[in-house]
Amino acid sequence: MTREEAIRRMQDIGCYNPDVVDHAEWIDGKINLRTSDGKSFEFTSDSRLDETIKADDAKAVIIGQRFFSPEILSLELSEGFDFGNGKITVLTDKNCVVRAVSGMLTELRATSCGICTFCREGAYQLSGIIDAMTKPGADKKQLDLALEIAEAMTTSCNCPVGEETALPVLTALDLFRSEFEAHCGKGSCPSGECSAFSTLYIDPFKCEGNGDCMDVCPADAIEGKPGYISMLDEYECTRCGKCIEACENGAIQFATGRLPKLPERLTKVGRFRK
Ligand code: SF4
Ligand code: SF4
Repeated sequence: MTREEAIRRMQDIGCYNPDVVDHAEWIDGKINLRTSDGKSFEFTSDSRLDETIKADDAKAVIIGQRFFSPEILSLELSEGFDFGNGKITVLTDKNCVVRAVSGMLTELRATSCGICTFCREGAYQLSGIIDAMTKPGADKKQLDLALEIAEAMTTSCNCPVGEETALPVLTALDLFRSEFEAHCGKGSCPSGECSAFSTLYIDPFKCEGNGDCMDVCPADAIEGKPGYISMLDEYECTRCGKCIEACENGAIQFATGRLPKLPERLTKVGRFRK
């Protein structure tokens, strides 16, 4: 079967361009890919992953427990390339690397048998430190500490589980340190995925003043009246997201940095000027 035929068949069975490959492994010199819905296909060793995995807007690729830059998708993988647990995930600019590492550590913690102190305690500490970075308050000292723990785990654990647990931290920090630093030093999440760093506001040019958002807000955080631009109190808001669903005009938005200019008092729809 030629590469073109292989790609066509992948398209036929509906697993061309999956965002996530659930399992990849070498079988008899061929790469075997399996998607989460159980579809699978084989590729010869000179195949490239970008023939099957959507990559146009990739920021990072996670293969097994390791982070790679998107270029990995366009390389011919030599036989024996380590797919780790076989899972391949593509992150775009809308995905947060720190959050992804935190999720991986939560899963990896559960794989430690707990006998080896470095693995048990290291996984616990790393998971807590990285999770704290997804919320305001973390500083660069925690970043250094995470690196120190992860490096120690690669040499001091009794089995490969400890090293595997350290890999997401080490490889992500190597490639995306600035994204970690944004969370720790500047208190922001460049992707906007960590909602704890973002603020909700109502776009005064999109709001039509029908009050649908006020009706659903459990925190009473929105002020308004018919025909007036609604105003959202960011300190009262619990970020439950109910108003976003309720607003058919898409007026309720997330801001990750400074808020745009907003009305300071109730203003009639159409009267607000920048
Ligand atoms: S924010 Fe949306 S739901 Fe709320 S009053 Fe404005 S248009 Fe209506
Ligand atoms: S996110 Fe929830 S709490 Fe915040 S304003 Fe909207 S509905 Fe209210």
